[in-house]
Amino acid sequence: MTSNDVRDVIIVGSGPAGLTAAIYAARANLSPLVIEGEPSSTSDQPGGQLMLTTEVENFPGFPEGIMGPQLMVDFRSQAQRFGADILTEKVSRVDFSQRPFSIWIGDPDTPEPTFQAHSVIVSTGAQSLMLGLPDEYRLIGHGVSTCATCDGFFFRDMEIAVVGGGDSAIEEATFLTKFASKVTIIHRRGELRASKIMQDRAFANEKIDFLWDSVVVGINGETTLESLEIEHLPTGERSTQPFRGLFVAIGHKPNTDLFVGQLEMAENGYLVTEPGSTRTNVEGVFAAGDVQDDTYRQAITAAGSGCMAAIDAERWLETQGH
Ligand code: NAP
Repeated sequence: MTSNDVRDVIIVGSGPAGLTAAIYAARANLSPLVIEGEPSSTSDQPGGQLMLTTEVENFPGFPEGIMGPQLMVDFRSQAQRFGADILTEKVSRVDFSQRPFSIWIGDPDTPEPTFQAHSVIVSTGAQSLMLGLPDEYRLIGHGVSTCATCDGFFFRDMEIAVVGGGDSAIEEATFLTKFASKVTIIHRRGELRASKIMQDRAFANEKIDFLWDSVVVGINGETTLESLEIEHLPTGERSTQPFRGLFVAIGHKPNTDLFVGQLEMAENGYLVTEPGSTRTNVEGVFAAGDVQDDTYRQAITAAGSGCMAAIDAERWLETQGH
């Protein structure tokens, strides 16, 4: 698909944000090229984080729910139906310092870029940090989760564990008490990192327990989570505890390594966009979805901002006479 022609718009990333941008851009006759990534590890693959979920029950329009991977197949074929080109490759380098913008696939040291575009939409998403245990990914969607808003509902009256000691862990644990019979926060130290107000809320919640100075060292279960191996760090003592849910809430990492030195980023690595728009600090480059959102991180909000990015790009191209 290498071409000397300068594309109107190239979309980097293929989660709900990128593919929604592709649907809108294709319907605006901008013939978008989506560089969707390629499967390189369990946590990093075309389609984004929904590829790691099972049932999605909160995406509007699916009253019976839909499987995450199926939803992404549908997003993808809807974009293709309107003429979006989709390339299963990983971007290795970008140059946004001059227009048209340049994008490389493969060897980043090749002088000639693989593609050039008048505008670019960055929608490379974010990843939940994981514990690094062998069975963590195998049981994701089957007891192991990284999103209480998405999956809490499936754990009605069960005992569940949340790992982490920051605001995310406390927020997830507090939310999960709506469903679970008991929520145990497993934290590797003896004090929380979370803000005081969140801590107070958790300490006052009768459904929340704490396992201090402890880490999860094993995840057990054939088809669904049955129990966790937990180590108490000061004594080295290990125990098996029958949790049916494990929520990993140890932080997120935006996929922005590619854009260091090219686009403005916040201290935490997320791309900065102008409030109320998807404009980055580089005119003609737009950012949508989790790569620029460390607050909501939902498929529907990502899709919404993908739509915004396509409209922002289309209007910007018009002002440039393309
Ligand atoms: P965070 O503040 O970086 O906290 C991560 C937590 O996970 C820490 O307690 C850390 O332990 C623990 N951790 C990290 N790696 C671990 C590992 N491999 N095994 C076990 N535990 C591990 O991340 P966050 O909670 O996602 O928050 C990120 C930012 O968003 C923060 O600025 C936070 O204030 C903000 N936030 C705000 C809200 C809110 O205000 N409502 C909600 C969510 C997030 P240590 O403490 O030992 O380092």
